[in-house]
Amino acid sequence: MTEHVADPSHPRYNSLLMRHKLEVAASKGMLANSAMIAHGRGEAYDYLLGEQTIPSAFIATKEIAARLLNADNPIISLNGNAIALAGEGFLKIAALLNCPIEINIFYRTPERMNALLSHLNGLNEKLGLNVTILGGKPDAKITGLEGPRSNCHKNGIFDSDVILVPLEDGDRCEALVNMGKDVLVIDLNPLSRSAKMASVTVVDELSRVVSNLLEIIPSSPVISDWDNDECLQSALTRIVETISKPTK
Ligand code: ATP
Repeated sequence: MTEHVADPSHPRYNSLLMRHKLEVAASKGMLANSAMIAHGRGEAYDYLLGEQTIPSAFIATKEIAARLLNADNPIISLNGNAIALAGEGFLKIAALLNCPIEINIFYRTPERMNALLSHLNGLNEKLGLNVTILGGKPDAKITGLEGPRSNCHKNGIFDSDVILVPLEDGDRCEALVNMGKDVLVIDLNPLSRSAKMASVTVVDELSRVVSNLLEIIPSSPVISDWDNDECLQSALTRIVETISKPTK
């Protein structure tokens, strides 16, 4: 299906491909109506970052790999966009880390949850992996949040010590930090509440982060003395540099 989206030689091929992945996921009922808006905000920041992994983001990716590898109960929490854009990659990462994935969506409906569970379970089977996929039968609450978005699994997000949450909402990120968890965020917007609240923020496009993690995890990186403000500042500096470059 994707071969009809655009010619690979098109300068915006990757961007068009990602939009198409989201369109397909939306047609399967996996996404909320606001999914494209959230993606668009990310695209705008990616443009300003040069659509590449900047050095500080690569170092942050090594840091999250190290923290996940050293965790007692690591978990990967995925929303609809993350599953649509990089579901296979996240399953491979979970298999390397031997940790579960929990589907945790902001606008929770049984239909969306079932669509996401069946998509991820299908990929799990196709890849011959045996990753535990949680989210369907929540039996605990993220402390400090109201309504369905607080739902989680006791043996998943609730009991985790280190949590990788790509594209997390700021409110929920704050609640997870307040629960004492090491919260690892992937977000192209260094100014978002999640980016600022997280223990470690990778300011990079999530599909690129997934490829980098798959490369880095087998090399067993070690935890460092992390300064997240410095990491956010270098992304902002790169954005300012991009904007100040004279146009040709
Ligand atoms: P916050 O509540 O943290 O301030 P927000 O309201 O800006 O966040 P949301 O709409 O909840 O954000 O989520 C979208 C976020 O995800 C944006 O910050 C956007 O930059 C980021 N984003 C979107 N697509 C991607 C992607 N493919 N890779 C990385 N980040 C992305």
